[in-house]
Amino acid sequence: MIEKVRCLIIGSGPAGYTAAIYASRANLSPVLYEGMQPGGQLTTTTEVENFPGYPEGTTGTELMEDMRKQAERFGADIRFGTATATDLSSAPYKVTIDGEKVIEADTIIISTGATAKYLGLPDEQKYAGSGVSACATCDGFFYRKLKVAVVGGGDTACEEAIYLAGLASKVFLIVRKNALRASKIMQERVLNNPKIEVLFEHETLGLTGEGVVQGANLIKRKGQTDEEQVHIEIDGFFLAIGHKPNSDIFKPWIETDEVGYIKTIAGTPRTNVSGVFASGDVADPHYRQAITAAGSGCQAAIEAERYLSEKGL
Ligand code: NDP
Repeated sequence: MIEKVRCLIIGSGPAGYTAAIYASRANLSPVLYEGMQPGGQLTTTTEVENFPGYPEGTTGTELMEDMRKQAERFGADIRFGTATATDLSSAPYKVTIDGEKVIEADTIIISTGATAKYLGLPDEQKYAGSGVSACATCDGFFYRKLKVAVVGGGDTACEEAIYLAGLASKVFLIVRKNALRASKIMQERVLNNPKIEVLFEHETLGLTGEGVVQGANLIKRKGQTDEEQVHIEIDGFFLAIGHKPNSDIFKPWIETDEVGYIKTIAGTPRTNVSGVFASGDVADPHYRQAITAAGSGCQAAIEAERYLSEKGL
């Protein structure tokens, strides 16, 4: 069964819903598939205090619910389902939903987001939203004058450690190797920051605490003769070990960088396939904020509208 749509939006984070608001107000009759995690990454955070328009803050879930309702008010057709395969070899483009239904779309807005990597410890689930976070910019504010740990040794980890050092009383940076992978300048900033203590050659075994994170059990120089168990007292545990952009099903057609972020023409959401646009974290290795994702969703919808009118579709 093939269904024909003018504008297909894949993904339901701030980018996808904003694209749906703009596309529906432009009479593109957009169909949006929510994907496996309706509302996207924001639904895994607690409070959101940095999205403009909410002077008292809101929650990630409420923000996404509001965006969805706003898109529906203008007629966006929001559906439960996940894109599982694509054929973007020629227009109209084909997208398979849940391995069954095929949508034929004149334009596609890819807003499938990225997934933060976790260590895979059961405690990360246990304390999700209660001290475990993968976004310092989102959640750092809640740890003012408290102690936190950041895991990772790349640029993101260093950036997050520095950001958190501006808020928290103490930041441990847990690095599995004996060196940081980050750029020299970031390394220097971290090593010269009196609030940051770098724990080289440490790995996390688990987290402790009654209902909320109160500490972490680490192992130093695992497998060596001088292996040692270490306990640190912390209130927050931040993962910064990388993100995986959700771009796999587009890769046969759409250019990505070596990590998998979709390449767009600078300053636009245009991909290498005309009529296919990318917005939000799937195309953004740098900012990864709800507001920047929303902005690029708007750009994608405007581009989709222009593309359709140029083609007379
Ligand atoms: P990276 O892949 O560069 O670094 C990931 C870090 O996490 C590494 O130190 C890695 O350790 C560590 N890590 C991975 N898995 C585990 C694990 N299971 N346990 C413990 N540690 C682990 O990712 P980033 O997100 O930091 O950066 C991604 C890209 O974005 C990079 O190219 C980076 O330069 C860029 N970036 C640039 C910024 C800037 O210029 N301002 C800011 C942020 C990112 P190991 O070193 O041992 O492999």
